[in-house]
Amino acid sequence: MGKKCYCGQLKPFSACCASYIRGELLAESPEILMRSRYSAYVTGAIEYLVQTTAPELQGALNIVEIQKWARENTWKMLEVLSAEGNEVEFKAHYRDRNGKLVVHHERSRFIYEAGRWFYQDGDFY
Ligand SMILES: [Zn+2]
Repeated sequence: MGKKCYCGQLKPFSACCASYIRGELLAESPEILMRSRYSAYVTGAIEYLVQTTAPELQGALNIVEIQKWARENTWKMLEVLSAEGNEVEFKAHYRDRNGKLVVHHERSRFIYEAGRWFYQDGDFY
């Protein structure tokens, strides 16, 4: 592993998103949660994606689909375009299962409940 975390921060994964994914730290902000969720897609940490979704929405998640989407794509890069209040706009670059480069551009909304941040939903571009 190089010096950069999957999420693009200039520190190794072990000193960045891994602590959140392993449950050792709680994400202090929507941006940190968003970055760690991207790294969870990269590393196939599906449980973390479920646990960091708004509790009232967790039951509606299609875990098999999330797992399939996370694993069949080759994750290239995350760009955080803006992070203000409870919103984070980002572009996630990946190569899909057909080898096509795709840019997933989303403005995500997060909610703070019981002392932690959760992903709620997003607008897609
Ligand atoms: Zn990271």
